[in-house]
Amino acid sequence: MEPTKNKKKVQPKQKNGGNKKSPLSLFSGKVPKGGQFFSNLVTAVLIFLIISTVYSMVVGGKDKVEEVAISTIAQSIVKEEVKSITVEGDVITAEYVDGSKKTSKKEVEASLSQTLVNYGVSPEKLALVAVEVKNESGFGYWFLNLLPFILPVLLIIVFFLFLSRQVKGSGMQAFSFGQSKARIIDPNDAGQKVTFKDVAGAKEAKEELVEIVDFLRSPQKFLDIGARIPKGVLLMGAPGTGKTLLARAVAGEANVPFFHLSGSEFVEMFVGVGASRVRDLFKMAKKAAPAIIFVDEIDAVGRVRGGGVGGGNDEREQTLNQILVEMDGFEPTEKVIVMAATNRPDVLDPALLRPGRFDRRVTLELPDREGREEILKIHAVKKPLAEDVNLKIIAERTPGFSGADLYSLMNEGAILAAREGRKTVAQFDFIRAIEKVMLGPERKSHILSKEEKKVTAYHEAGHALVASVLPHADPVHKISIIARGHAGGYTLKLPLEETRLQSKKEFLDDIAMSLGGYVAEESVFGDVTTGPSNDLQVSTALARDMVTKYGMSDKLGPIALEGNGGRALFGGRGVDSRDYSEDVSAKIDAEVSKIMNDAFARAREVCTTHRKALDSIADELIAKESIEREDFENLLILNGIKPKRKEVVEK
Ligand code: ADP
Ligand code: MG
Ligand code: ZN
Repeated sequence: MEPTKNKKKVQPKQKNGGNKKSPLSLFSGKVPKGGQFFSNLVTAVLIFLIISTVYSMVVGGKDKVEEVAISTIAQSIVKEEVKSITVEGDVITAEYVDGSKKTSKKEVEASLSQTLVNYGVSPEKLALVAVEVKNESGFGYWFLNLLPFILPVLLIIVFFLFLSRQVKGSGMQAFSFGQSKARIIDPNDAGQKVTFKDVAGAKEAKEELVEIVDFLRSPQKFLDIGARIPKGVLLMGAPGTGKTLLARAVAGEANVPFFHLSGSEFVEMFVGVGASRVRDLFKMAKKAAPAIIFVDEIDAVGRVRGGGVGGGNDEREQTLNQILVEMDGFEPTEKVIVMAATNRPDVLDPALLRPGRFDRRVTLELPDREGREEILKIHAVKKPLAEDVNLKIIAERTPGFSGADLYSLMNEGAILAAREGRKTVAQFDFIRAIEKVMLGPERKSHILSKEEKKVTAYHEAGHALVASVLPHADPVHKISIIARGHAGGYTLKLPLEETRLQSKKEFLDDIAMSLGGYVAEESVFGDVTTGPSNDLQVSTALARDMVTKYGMSDKLGPIALEGNGGRALFGGRGVDSRDYSEDVSAKIDAEVSKIMNDAFARAREVCTTHRKALDSIADELIAKESIEREDFENLLILNGIKPKRKEVVEK
């Protein structure tokens, strides 16, 4: 189908830069940009109106008094009609006995009594009138006199202020581009403070970092003895292993300010901005020293330079160069430590890693069982747990989970409990959360037809059966044909023991297990669906890695033909990193296909010899939709297969 591009083109929402930054505007809020200026204008006019009304009330109050000639007042005094007279500068106000008021002007130099006498008022008559002279230099006097001049000027200033704010909101942003966008965490901010206590597991990493903390706490001790201070610490580890968390914990432990910036934030629209941001950041940190600068995801700027495929790398390189220059420019007494984090240490420019730069390297591993339990405990602190909760079991069931996964697991568990209106989180919630974090949410709306359900059941039963029969595959933990995330069904397996190394035999059984679904579909229905396509991709990739990376092929022998990741790094070491001949390439393909075919044959053998077991697992799945470990093992025993179990059962 032809994509209807024009129709669907969504107008990008107008960025409303002006609104945020004008606290003065009465109309700030959801007024669109054009209306903003107009509304400010209206505000200005309103203010003007209000001020002028007030002014005219103050000043105009006086105008109501009738102004007369001074001789008139003099005559009134002679007639004894005047009660009192107030003199303000050259203005005199006479209050009459009947309560009315009249005002007049006198000459500035002459005194009032003299003037009145000149107009024929006798001193006796004058003595009957109370005369009050008001200080003409009082603030009010000057203010009232100057107001007509000041007011327009004030209004013009206010008007231009509005205008300039308007400009700042949109255009002036250009001037702040070069500034560092670092977030600063103040050591005295208890709410944001993270310490080593908040980081579970990662013992070795913490031990490495204690030294850095020591230095930041008492730098003089190290300087006195002539020790060179570490400049850069690089935290490496899979996503979610707590790199960012640990960096913050170092700052928290050392009680120093923490300047946090992500690699990608250096690089924005304009060339040269990255470098100037780096300068700005280092300047700020030096002022606050001792301090930590933390560049998160440094691989965004720190990739191998010079790869320039397709251009657009200049900015990144300049930024990286500037970081290097700044780090070299540190005086030994500068007391600023640069920390950085990455999950791709393999793509970093070697210049970053040489001594004097990021020469301290700390690797964070995925947590082991104990580590996971500790992380779970940390995140359980604020959650009311039911009595049946056993975090140890959760930790056992979550090999390969990172700290971030575990955090999300605890959160999902709490959400499930809250949704069902319970006040505490139960073990059952966490168990369900494991699958949710691993595979995505259940898709209950995904209703299978009877035929589809049967195919899915046999597919999963095939995986589970092969895994149970082959000696080096991990035992099955749960089977389900409830769709989750992208998967139509799933078979969970759990290793008996967590190991860091995997053997060739394990890989081969793994591949056979992946093909179990394909084999079951084919042997039962004589046809295959698109269901196993992901299984095929994963297992083929594994077979290829066995040949090209791990030297596990008999024909090609112990040789690594491909570097990290199995794929060439675009813009890294060149587009094509294959440095072997066509001949070898053909051999690799042949070996991969041999591994796959062998695995296929073994899976098929399992499914034919244990066809009865396959049928009963599939039937059970169709009936119940998911089978837990115990029921599954009972099914196996009924069909004469010995389930894999831990020899020592812990109580
Ligand atoms: P990374 O930067 O390595 O991708 P983060 O430091 O951002 O990972 O971790 C994400 C979240 O996972 C943290 O905020 C924390 O809640 C949790 N987490 C990760 N590792 C740990 C750990 N060792 N102890 C406690 N929590 C952790
Ligand atoms: Mg991070
Ligand atoms: Zn499958």
